Amino acid sequence: MRFYVPTDIYVEKNCVINHGKELAALGKRALIVTGRYSARANGSLDDVIAVLDGEGIPYEIFDQVEENPSVETIVKAAEMGKAFQGDFVIGIGGGSPLDASKAIALLMANPDKDGSCLYQSLDLPHLPVASIPTTCGTGSEATPVSVLTNYQMQVKKSIPYKIFPALALVDGKYLASAKRSLIVNTAVDALAHLVESYLNTKSNLFNRMASEYGLMLWAKTREILAKETPLTEEDYEHLMFDATVAGMAIAHTATGLPHGMSYDLTYNFGVPHGKACGYFLAAYMEMCSLHKPEEVQKILDFLGMKDLKEFADEIRDLIGTYEIKAADKEKFMAAMQTNQGKLAAAPWDVSPEEVCRIYDLSLITVD
Ligand code: NAP
Ligand code: ZN
Repeated sequence: MRFYVPTDIYVEKNCVINHGKELAALGKRALIVTGRYSARANGSLDDVIAVLDGEGIPYEIFDQVEENPSVETIVKAAEMGKAFQGDFVIGIGGGSPLDASKAIALLMANPDKDGSCLYQSLDLPHLPVASIPTTCGTGSEATPVSVLTNYQMQVKKSIPYKIFPALALVDGKYLASAKRSLIVNTAVDALAHLVESYLNTKSNLFNRMASEYGLMLWAKTREILAKETPLTEEDYEHLMFDATVAGMAIAHTATGLPHGMSYDLTYNFGVPHGKACGYFLAAYMEMCSLHKPEEVQKILDFLGMKDLKEFADEIRDLIGTYEIKAADKEKFMAAMQTNQGKLAAAPWDVSPEEVCRIYDLSLITVD
């Protein structure tokens, strides 16, 4: 058994300011990587700039990361970072800028390589990365994973490099500007991480410490998501912490079938990541319960739910349902039958019929 989460993680109010010296110690010239708008609106970019100005660290900002970042964006940002002679990267935002910052740090450290190296399994170094999450879902700040959209290969897929951030600064206050739908979708993503890490062939004592604790936290997350009153500072802190714990769980096992199935919905129809994973979660649990009923029951117990129906109903209430054309469903089902990596992650031998059953139970088929 190997225990390895090398990221230095602070989960506390004002941690960017409080741990500014640790952030500045990562290098001498920073490339800051954000999405187009939210980092300016929620105060996270201001906090980082205050720290860098205070420590005398020059920086440049790449603020063009789109949702589900593309290889082209990574290449563009890395060019900017190299021209600036940046020697560390600070990702601020949801999973998209955080994942992008890891891939950018890889390209910046290998100036003789182009974007094609991102999907080759080479032994390449990367610059140090700091991650500052502003959504409560991906846990990217605690994982070595970077998921990119590759238009050439026509897929959304993780790159085959393990890039753990050196430092993660997790502050719930940045969630205050998020719409309810973003909070819900990303919290459901965190739940998917907890479930897929728990029900996983690579599951061991270590990731289960994170999964089990994160699932217990999600019992409170349920109450927060059900609130009709505005969320409090404490709620935001809880949601953010739960997502980071869930990230620590998948750092060890990676994700499973629901994530594998989600990527086609996001790539082809732009379905937000957490929602796309959430659609497949209850059916995945149901199939798993035929083979590992006691494991599924434990998850329900941690969540404080009585049965799978309650689980399915609650997720549906949160994210709704999704309609898909029969032809698209057939195409995605066929591709999933050959996705050996994700099939192998399931803790039983998944039959082709079970793959189809998960799609049938999860999506509403229309002509
Ligand atoms: P996201 O794609 O990073 O962001 C979604 C939207 O939320 C963007 O419009 C963003 O605006 C906005 N936003 C971010 N923070 C906000 C805030 N505090 N207030 C208001 N708006 C805010 O969403 P995400 O769900 O966090 O990340 C999804 C990506 O992460 C996917 O590509 C997925 O595959 C990946 N992922 C990675 C891992 C991993 O282990 N590395 C795990 C799961 C998922 P701006 O564009 O203006 O910033
Ligand atoms: Zn996810």
